[in-house]
Amino acid sequence: MIVCKFGGSSLADAVQIQKVKEIVDADSRRAIVIVSAPGKRTSADEKVTDMLYGCARLVREGRSCEPLFAKVADRYTSILSGLGMNGDFLLPILSEVRASIDAGAGAHWAASRGEHLCARLVAEYFGWQFLETEGRIIIADDGSVDEQSYTLLSASLEPGTRYVVPGFYGSNGQGMVQTFSRGGSDITGAILARASGAEVYENWTDVSGVFSVDPRLVDGAKVIGEMTYREVRELAGVGAGVFHEEAIAPLLPVAIPINVKNTNAPLDKGTWIVESRECGDNPLSGVAAKGGYSRLTIRKLMLLKSTGIRHALMTMMRVFGVRPSFSLFGIDSIVWFFETSQASEGVLEAMCARLKEEFALESIEVDGGYAILGVVGAGVNSDPSLIGSVSCALQSEKIPIHFLNYGSSDTSLLIGVAEESAKEATIALYRALFA
Ligand code: ASP
Repeated sequence: MIVCKFGGSSLADAVQIQKVKEIVDADSRRAIVIVSAPGKRTSADEKVTDMLYGCARLVREGRSCEPLFAKVADRYTSILSGLGMNGDFLLPILSEVRASIDAGAGAHWAASRGEHLCARLVAEYFGWQFLETEGRIIIADDGSVDEQSYTLLSASLEPGTRYVVPGFYGSNGQGMVQTFSRGGSDITGAILARASGAEVYENWTDVSGVFSVDPRLVDGAKVIGEMTYREVRELAGVGAGVFHEEAIAPLLPVAIPINVKNTNAPLDKGTWIVESRECGDNPLSGVAAKGGYSRLTIRKLMLLKSTGIRHALMTMMRVFGVRPSFSLFGIDSIVWFFETSQASEGVLEAMCARLKEEFALESIEVDGGYAILGVVGAGVNSDPSLIGSVSCALQSEKIPIHFLNYGSSDTSLLIGVAEESAKEATIALYRALFA
């Protein structure tokens, strides 16, 4: 049995939904379909989810969501008419949704309706069973998936029945509807794949797989044929728009392979994401960069010998909302990179003053404008020439390296560069390592 998740662009209008039906009809093993909310039809269009967040915001500001919700409703009614369906079953649900948002149902509930309505519509179109995820997917306070979700879901699945399931949401511990982070329908798909014991989890999108580099930067960027779960996580961690990095966690214990495929080119092989792979001639899978980092540099004599100081420093930083992503340690210094958006300049100034005084630091400095580049591959540590090739490629573009993290992960090499050279650096590394 195959679980398929279709993203927003695959459900943006009636024509796309017809393609989804053809794909599903082409293989009878495709028995569970998870849907996102309708996405953009053109680059200037609005995603249904964004409009629903907008509705909740209007209500919070004391205004009615009616005009904006009319645009949401129009997306569904035009899909219904494009598919030649009688929309009578959906119209009362649309009015109830609007009334509940106007009555203050909140952002989580409002946003979840994008997927809910889409799944109701697609279930009706396919003649399949709609399966509600509220009360069946339980999201813990830290955003992780509660283990009981798998039992609740598998108890609800009847053998031989085919289901359409809304992505992106479940319930929190208090039984209230809660959404995952953006793009979270990938997580719902992974949960359903595990709960149903699927042989494959197909993730249908609008590109023919995961690219080795952002295809907007390099013409003819290669699609990765096969990569591991860890490679996906590492690539997503440095900003590649691959697949929701949290969607790997449900699949890890059961090793269900993921196939990322293109709804507009269903015969393309796409990318296979598996537990482990033979690296052979392909030790690397991709390169990506993520900007928006600042650097915090702390100096104090004997810093590394003072017991507990690192933990105490991090605890205090957390009080100011700063959670470092990457660290480097010297004997008398520590460098932390953190996301600049975590704290304003004022907060950082207050934090530095506090840390300096409390820990009697020699110096503490913050500077911004960094990007972290990741060269990702299951064979990253087995290529002795990698560091040489990376530094030559960056040097020939005159891009200084501010940070190098090699060896802490067996799947990535991380390089810190100035944010303004991130694109050039990514292209230079792709050309040196992949082309
Ligand atoms: N519709 C949600 C979003 O736009 C979730 C998803 O598409 O996976 O983020």
